[in-house]
Amino acid sequence: MAWFRNLAQVSSSSLKKQHHHHIHPFSLLSPLASSLSHSHYTTEAPPTQYAGLGPTRPEEKPRVVVLGSGWAGCRFMKGIDTNIYDVVCVSPRNHMVFTPLLASTCVGTLEFRSVAEPIGQIQPAISREPGSYFFLSNCTAIDVDNHMVHCQTVTDGVDTLDQWKFKISYDKLVIALGAQPSTFGIHGVEEHATFLREVYHAQEIRRKLLLNLMLSDMPGISEEDKRRLLHCVVVGGGPTGVEFSGELSDFIMKDVHQRYSHVKDYIRVTLIEANDILSSFDDRLRQYATKQLTKSGVQLVRGIVKDVKAQKLILNDGTEVPYGLLVWSTGVGPSSLVNSLKIPKSPGGRIGVDEWLRIPSVQDVFSIGDCSGFLESTGKPTLPALAQVAERQGKYLANLINNIGKAGGGHANSSNGMELGQPFVYRHLGSMATIGRYKALVDLRQNKESKGLSLAGFTSWFIWRSAYLSRVISWRNRFYVAINWLTTMVFGRDISRI
Ligand SMILES: Cc1cc2nc3c(=O)[nH]c(=O)nc-3n(C[C@H](O)[C@H](O)[C@H](O)COP(=O)(O)OP(=O)(O)OC[C@H]3O[C@@H](n4cnc5c(N)ncnc54)[C@H](O)[C@@H]3O)c2cc1C
Repeated sequence: MAWFRNLAQVSSSSLKKQHHHHIHPFSLLSPLASSLSHSHYTTEAPPTQYAGLGPTRPEEKPRVVVLGSGWAGCRFMKGIDTNIYDVVCVSPRNHMVFTPLLASTCVGTLEFRSVAEPIGQIQPAISREPGSYFFLSNCTAIDVDNHMVHCQTVTDGVDTLDQWKFKISYDKLVIALGAQPSTFGIHGVEEHATFLREVYHAQEIRRKLLLNLMLSDMPGISEEDKRRLLHCVVVGGGPTGVEFSGELSDFIMKDVHQRYSHVKDYIRVTLIEANDILSSFDDRLRQYATKQLTKSGVQLVRGIVKDVKAQKLILNDGTEVPYGLLVWSTGVGPSSLVNSLKIPKSPGGRIGVDEWLRIPSVQDVFSIGDCSGFLESTGKPTLPALAQVAERQGKYLANLINNIGKAGGGHANSSNGMELGQPFVYRHLGSMATIGRYKALVDLRQNKESKGLSLAGFTSWFIWRSAYLSRVISWRNRFYVAINWLTTMVFGRDISRI
């Protein structure tokens, strides 16, 4: 229903806005559109016009189209000058997720809404300005020759509506599509594991975990099933996998022991990693994390997953690991849309950009965040898939595109040869990860080789919490997070399965 409400809101506000702003329906039917309309209308109905936003006129504001509403896209939208540009955001979700705190929502330390911020709050022009929109859709193709993106609506959960397609012309395009979880082609991962990237993933994990706890307490359940249901397996020992394991062990020790005391001796957490956990952190911090996680009851297993079945996974050495909850967190790679784009790529298959985050081979297209990487010709390394990279790229690019607009280059094909100013330079501020039981790691070195401060323990946990509380998207979220932390501390985690 939430999807439906969003969609209804977008459609009705879009319709209202159309009266105030020049919207040019595309007059030509593309092959995609005609096949879509044929599949819908079997009678001799006249072909439906393929709706969309046509090119802007010189007297109108130029239009920036942003693909994606993650860290990069949202930071960009926040910084764009809406006196110069109209902004159109296309994304399958109408909010931004504060990912560093997502793991905490899986076990009820934080509520889901505390880590999500609606796009309209981040860039109010999207709800107010007649030429700015948010479209709850997926971009399906990018036509760089015609300055146009192809989109398809998201109608999940709405049985009465089929998806439909539309196109949007852009003056400037910002591709901020993020990445998708890597499964390395391992059989069964997509079907049986849960990823941890979106709020609905966290909701799925929470529901499954609570269901398993309740099922295992029922009369008639076998010992074997009870052990399996209460075995939570996390694959991937990067910061996300470790933070989730830490949260889970905290939940078990503090809440399960009290509220599910009948089954407390059955529940356990296993973290499977092919190499060392937290490989990007200082050696000392890694050892500390290993010791603390083991102390909290997390079993660390070194292994490579070969196959995933509905109730067990199989490691390379043939070991079978039965599970009731399987969370997959083994890093990210380019999405299928990014793979399909016929543009030069950076090492690793990301969209290749130059020092100003442009795709140099095409006009007016930029790319930021996890989906982009420096072209080999720039001589710069591919930056890590991190929020701090995405956020700073978004901020930089908003300034760059604002300056282009101020200099009169906002419309399509009008900024050729313009002086762009300073290129984007990234300076790593350090990494943090929480490991449960009021402990965290803070590594302030710029890279693995350089010297710098690295801390572990309660002080780091305090720094971790303070840093994220100050970085959380808005005052509304900050308030929610602070209240959630306080409530959890006083009353324990919320274990209702809603
Ligand atoms: C659980 C977790 C914890 C993390 N913790 C940290 C941390 O502590 N510190 C840190 O620096 N980084 C952290 N990260 C990494 C960080 O979240 C990412 O690097 C960051 O989200 C990248 O931003 P982005 O905008 O490139 O991509 P995303 O934030 O992933 O956003 C991509 C956007 O594109 C949209 N999209 C996808 N496909 C389409 C399509 N076809 N059409 C239109 N839109 C589309 C998505 O819906 C989404 O809105 C964490 C990640 C996770 C998952």
